[in-house]
Amino acid sequence: MNFYFAYVIYVFLCGLLLVLHWDVKVGEDETKGWFESSTLIVIAHPDDETMFFGPLLVSLISNSPDKIFILCLTSGDFYGLGAIRSIELITAVQQIGLPKVNLFLTDQFRDGFDQHWNSSLISLIVEEKIRNHNITHVITFDEFGVSHHPNHRDTHSFIKVFSSSSGQLATSVKFFLLESVSLHRKYLSFLDIPISLIDIEINDWLSNHKYPNQRKWFFGLTPSKYLKLVRALYAHESQMVWFRKVYSILSRYMFMNTLTDYNR
Ligand SMILES: [Zn+2]
Repeated sequence: MNFYFAYVIYVFLCGLLLVLHWDVKVGEDETKGWFESSTLIVIAHPDDETMFFGPLLVSLISNSPDKIFILCLTSGDFYGLGAIRSIELITAVQQIGLPKVNLFLTDQFRDGFDQHWNSSLISLIVEEKIRNHNITHVITFDEFGVSHHPNHRDTHSFIKVFSSSSGQLATSVKFFLLESVSLHRKYLSFLDIPISLIDIEINDWLSNHKYPNQRKWFFGLTPSKYLKLVRALYAHESQMVWFRKVYSILSRYMFMNTLTDYNR
């Protein structure tokens, strides 16, 4: 009985946090920095932007839509639906508020679990976008790629190549990674908010006292922005099988993102 009572209280508190909590939790002086920077988000497939990077994307776009860019490395043609999925991606990001010209699509990589992507080629494509659009912040998957999909992990792998081959440019660009959380947290929905916030507080303390450069940033959504993100997810019509609908409710990645520093 006590367990159920505690559970109800916990759910109520999470609901309260969802409704009342701030969109973005970063250091006061850094909030401005995030929204004034030109940011490139590098994803592997159409729908990664909403399924995994959604809260981050909605937060950044609602503050400075012209400064956000997305590079999608494949058309998502695993089932031969590349052309349809590319159009769905354009619709989805426009629903969030991203100008169409800020979306870059390339079909130089094949979608699939058995495909290995060339990190040097990804690095060259990213470098071109950075130079052409004065990008200062680059965000992509961490080494686990949230779902461990090989294409996500390959997307991450370009950073190492970029850092060693782009000379001066590599030092002027900041890299941030989308944190992959454990499976039991991944499907906690908005109930993961307190856990994420406590984790960030502990991490902040550690980064101030023991491990500098281990910073984390939290991007959460209010209910109205969450609904906006769900509408964008549903723009990927060809992918909206039943478990994606369940995902839109149960995945914490539909409610919050945590970014970490990339330590070179
Ligand atoms: Zn993907």
